[in-house]
Amino acid sequence: MPNWLEGRHALITGGGTGIGSSCATHLNAGGAKVTVVGRRQDKLDFITKITGGAGIACDVTDRAQIDRAFAAARDANGPIEMLIVNAGIGDSAPFSRIDRDSWDRMLAVNLTAAFDCVQAALADLRASANGRVVFIASVAGLKGVPYAAHYSASKHGMLGLMRSLAAEFARTNLTVNAICPGFVDTQMTMDSAGRISEATGKSFDEAHAALGKMNANGRLVHPDTIGSMVLNLCLPQSQDVNGAAITIDGGTTA
Ligand code: NDP
Repeated sequence: MPNWLEGRHALITGGGTGIGSSCATHLNAGGAKVTVVGRRQDKLDFITKITGGAGIACDVTDRAQIDRAFAAARDANGPIEMLIVNAGIGDSAPFSRIDRDSWDRMLAVNLTAAFDCVQAALADLRASANGRVVFIASVAGLKGVPYAAHYSASKHGMLGLMRSLAAEFARTNLTVNAICPGFVDTQMTMDSAGRISEATGKSFDEAHAALGKMNANGRLVHPDTIGSMVLNLCLPQSQDVNGAAITIDGGTTA
């Protein structure tokens, strides 16, 4: 594949693990310089050993940390031309047991941080001939989900943000899209399986397999399916794909 992204800088939040690390390796394979950010430096270092570029510790719920991390990323790799908003947390509980702290935390990581990260990179993204924002949302952003009202609400909010930015920047060189995966084979899904196992008495393996069966294709999604879709959206050739929410669970896109 030609290096269509040669020399251009992609910043991936939550890029040290799971879906984010797959985005980093795919974008790097397409020629991009990458910066991965997250709280655990060891996870970031593991990925930058593969991709080169920069791994910068940052808690995305703190705007000052985002501003510092993005400035360090620019120093290392130049203007941020592609922003992959992937950092996120999941949780599950009956609505009556979701307390206010848990709600606030979910919204802070999954939604408010998305707002802050786009604002922090916006000048670079607007100056680029091919600016790209890709949000990693969820099928839970497209429909209601029992026992995950806070998670689902945060991802619905993310899609509202994506669609509004896509509309606002439609006549510019910046595109804004989202990917909405079903259950993906990452730590987040293992954590969900652990919670289900505890609550229901099912074995971990049974709970894990049951989550895969909830996807339209009946199996867990591989993170690389998402990494390659993100790469595709970031290519200059994808300039006319804007405002899309792309479902990845083997089923139909909403
Ligand atoms: P992981 O748990 O592997 O990834 C989550 C990433 O987010 C980690 O790298 C974590 O790094 C980072 N992160 C979490 N909180 C913060 C924070 N406060 N500041 C900075 N980074 C943070 O799971 P996935 O790869 O599966 O999840 C990635 C995204 O995909 C999430 O947004 C998730 O909602 C979404 N998604 C996942 C699905 C799944 O089935 N797995 C399905 C649909 C969507 P660190 O802890 O080091 O900070």
